Amino acid sequence: MFCRNCGTEMNENAVVCVKCGCDKEKGTSFCPHCGKETNANADVCLSCGCSLKKEGSKSKMVAGLLGIFLGSLGIHNFYLGYTTKAIIQVLLGTGGWALFFMGPIVSGIWGLVEGILLLIGKINVDGKGNALKD
Ligand SMILES: [Zn+2]
Ligand SMILES: [Zn+2]
Repeated sequence: MFCRNCGTEMNENAVVCVKCGCDKEKGTSFCPHCGKETNANADVCLSCGCSLKKEGSKSKMVAGLLGIFLGSLGIHNFYLGYTTKAIIQVLLGTGGWALFFMGPIVSGIWGLVEGILLLIGKINVDGKGNALKD
C-alpha cells in the first residue's frame, strides 16, 4: 500500500509512514492502493477505482446477518448507526401489529433486503460514511 499523505510505498503492516511519519489512515492526497494523487474530497480513486473511504469498525457480515434475522426490529441499522431508519423499522416491527400484521411483514422484508444488500456489498458504508469491513 501507499502512504496517503506523501504517496510513498509502505509496508502493509506499518502503522506510520517511514518517510513522512504520518499515520497510515491519515492524509487524503494519494490513493493507498495505486499511489496516484487523489482529490481530497474524492470517494473513489480515479486511477484504480478503489474506494478511498476510511474503513470503519462495523462488519458487513454482522450487519447483513442482523438485517436478515432481526431486520424487522431494525437491529442492523442501529448497529450501523442509521438511527432514523432503525427507529422506523422498530416501530413498524412492533407497533405495526395494529395494521393487520402488515408492519412487521413490511419491516421484515425491508430488513431482509437490506441484509442481502449488505452481504453482497451494495450497502457498503455505515451511518457515518465509513466503509464497512468484510
Ligand atoms: Zn508518508
Ligand atoms: Zn488508486
